[in-house]
Amino acid sequence: PIVVKMSDVSKAYENGKIAVGDVNLDIRQGEFISFVGPSGCGKSTVFRMIAGLTRPSEGSIEVLGGTSLQARESNLVSFVFQDATLMPWSSVMDNVTLPLKLKGVPAKLRQLEGSKALELVGLQDYAKALPRQLSGGMKMRASIARALVAQPKLLLMDEPFGALDEMTRQTLQEELLTIWQREKDMTVLFVTHNVFEAVYLSTRIAVMTPSPGGISQLVDVPFSYP
Ligand code: ADP
Ligand code: ADP
Repeated sequence: PIVVKMSDVSKAYENGKIAVGDVNLDIRQGEFISFVGPSGCGKSTVFRMIAGLTRPSEGSIEVLGGTSLQARESNLVSFVFQDATLMPWSSVMDNVTLPLKLKGVPAKLRQLEGSKALELVGLQDYAKALPRQLSGGMKMRASIARALVAQPKLLLMDEPFGALDEMTRQTLQEELLTIWQREKDMTVLFVTHNVFEAVYLSTRIAVMTPSPGGISQLVDVPFSYP
């Protein structure tokens, strides 16, 4: 099934800046798709539209059979951003299970699901730790666990490893692939300006190219995963 359908999508900001023009893209369930392109070419804009954080000025976006806003509100979509913002005074477990708490899931079940999510990212021994006791890579793992805890259908990651050192980045890339391969029907959308990272991780790449008129368009580069 198609999980994201973008039809003739353009986005002009209030100041008149046209960030992206005429994007057409279908993303199928289970794909790992990366959005690459130079800084300022509109990757985050496309991503924010899919996430239901900003509206397209033209065209339409369907996410999991509804609008992007419905998908976000139904908790079927999770986000991971570069700055793994965790609540500093709450334990790793409380941070990771916050999405469940907001959904009204009872404490015992939260604990159970939280433990599973922490185990997925190898943080099972840090449930009671505070964020400041974690390294940068561990903070990112906690933020990935928080994104996975509600078992999303769509995982949106905006340059998640951009702030990490090379070693940690490689480790987390491996871990992310393992998780994605395990969660068979989870679709991952990954924004990066690092072409090597995109090629390594994805089943498909969407290249954002700034055109002469300054409006970025999207070129679909399908390739088969080795
Ligand atoms: P990328 O993620 O590829 O760096 P963005 O989507 O952040 O690109 O930005 C695309 C273009 O839109 C850039 O020229 C940027 O300056 C502009 N832009 C982004 N957000 C806004 C905004 N809120 N208002 C006006 N222009 C914006
Ligand atoms: P921007 O300032 O980035 O241009 P918008 O004017 O597009 O932002 O409005 C953003 C708001 O629109 C968000 O708070 C979000 O809740 C809402 N929104 C985003 N996507 C949709 C959608 N598909 N349908 C209805 N509302 C949406």
